[in-house]
Amino acid sequence: MANFNGIAASEGIAVAKVFKLEEPNLTVKSDQVTDVEAEIIQFEAAIKKTVAELEKIKEKAKMSLGEANALIFDAHINMVTDPELKGQTIEKIRTDSMNAAFAFDGVANQFIAMFEGMDNAYFRERAADIKDVKKRLLSHLLGVALNDPSLIDEAVIVVAHDLTPSDTAGLNRQFVKGFVTNIGGRTSHSAIMARSLEIPAIVGMGAILEEATDGEQVILDGLTGTVILNPTVEQIKLYEEKRVDFEAMKKALQQLKDQPTMTCDGQQVELVANVGTPEDAKGAVAHGAEGIGLYRTEFLYMDRSELPTEEEQFVAYKAVLEAMQGKPVVVRTLDIGGDKALPYLQLPHEINPFLGYRAIRVCLDRQPLFNTQLRALLRASVYGKLCVMFPMIATLDEFKAAKQALLEAKAELLAEGVPVADDIQIGMMVEIPSAAIFADQFAKEVDFFSIGTNDLIQYAMAADRMSEKVAYLYQPYHPSILRLIKMVIDAAHQAGKWTGMCGEMAGDALAIPLLLGLGLDEFSMSATSILAARKQISHLSKKEMANLANEALNMQTMEEVVALVKNTATTF
Ligand code: PEP
Ligand code: MG
Repeated sequence: MANFNGIAASEGIAVAKVFKLEEPNLTVKSDQVTDVEAEIIQFEAAIKKTVAELEKIKEKAKMSLGEANALIFDAHINMVTDPELKGQTIEKIRTDSMNAAFAFDGVANQFIAMFEGMDNAYFRERAADIKDVKKRLLSHLLGVALNDPSLIDEAVIVVAHDLTPSDTAGLNRQFVKGFVTNIGGRTSHSAIMARSLEIPAIVGMGAILEEATDGEQVILDGLTGTVILNPTVEQIKLYEEKRVDFEAMKKALQQLKDQPTMTCDGQQVELVANVGTPEDAKGAVAHGAEGIGLYRTEFLYMDRSELPTEEEQFVAYKAVLEAMQGKPVVVRTLDIGGDKALPYLQLPHEINPFLGYRAIRVCLDRQPLFNTQLRALLRASVYGKLCVMFPMIATLDEFKAAKQALLEAKAELLAEGVPVADDIQIGMMVEIPSAAIFADQFAKEVDFFSIGTNDLIQYAMAADRMSEKVAYLYQPYHPSILRLIKMVIDAAHQAGKWTGMCGEMAGDALAIPLLLGLGLDEFSMSATSILAARKQISHLSKKEMANLANEALNMQTMEEVVALVKNTATTF
């Protein structure tokens, strides 16, 4: 028995066998072949098998992750059938009487080296595509099975170094009870996908792949981030009970699904969901979301090799609006840069990317890119209740310029005879301290604010949200952060506007009493946190929480605030 701890990325408890997802042995040896034409036929058959396999994965991805996320597999299919790659391999087989695997490996490696050596980030990204495709095609040529998670037919917990989007998309939910990975954080791709697929997951485990043995029992506690390899019978029993309790608690919460979110003194607030794909919107409805408070559109732009077209974006935005059936959907325009790279955009390398060329700064600088997204959003607006917000606003001029771009795109569409809703709310994220401090001026211009505490805290404390070394300074409950939040909410209310929060803090049980007391109108969180938050809020009195928040605002340390909340507001 051995215990390990990582980052709890997706809630839930699972007990099953280890399924290690490791790199297969695809070493190729040079061979002289006598029947060159038979070798070429074999090579062409391997291409066909690879294409068929990728088509299958793409279809699965479409069902589990949505159309837009499945598009990455088209790039891989194009690569397998690339005439240059194929032609050069066949030529080698023919002229050198070389075995297909060795010939293809050599040609593919030349392409990889060529792309990797290029300055252009877009081409460097293509090297990764060829590597992926090379692995698949070689597995067919060599007859070596890839450890393919879609072929699993018994209950397992997948253990891997990391999971790519294609790995995650291929997970069969019937049998894969959870996954744990060596690397990754709560906002890594695999973690975000796990939450929307509702598969318990722990990431950032260090060396769990090296520690685990295929087939041994493992316990995964996605509530605490604990993994137990080779557990005792008593531990299995204990966690089985914990799992049953967790499932029962989730089921009991379902009765709140269609209820309004009301404090015990009759004050209503809104609980909405953060989503990354149109599929997530369906999960949000199932978890009782009263709307979408943050649709992170950048996922539409990731894991592909070119910008999504206006039509592709329109389809995605329309799907989310329709899924929410008239409930408000706050869509955030592209927030790229910082930790979210888009290699094909060729953003400059910066020493301080979080303080650099990102989000609205990129969009205002690249009007065609921005205009495409705005047009797609506006076209979709007639299918539901759309609110648009701009990320990383630091100055009033930026907000005004972004709003102007939206109004121009609207005028353009109307001139083309394309209908656009006329009740679209236009807001901004408050995630830069200047915007919080200047909220009274911004409040005159916006329809609403959404506080992005994930960034606001890191900028206010000058503590990188990704750095473990300074994590002690990343203090959501610090009175200085609470004061910034209060400034935003008060400024909005004085101007008759509303304020939401879409940073992780909005779904944090310790923060909720304080935020309620500060007067937050809308709490946007992972869909799976909504019902628990609704229950918590039903036990709280807004009046009492206002007193609690006032007390917290005048404290000196985060620890004092935490103790205050724990002692007064979380006793159920
Ligand atoms: C935030 O900064 O709080 C936020 C919601 O945006 P992201 O986490 O995508 O930066
Ligand atoms: Mg942010």
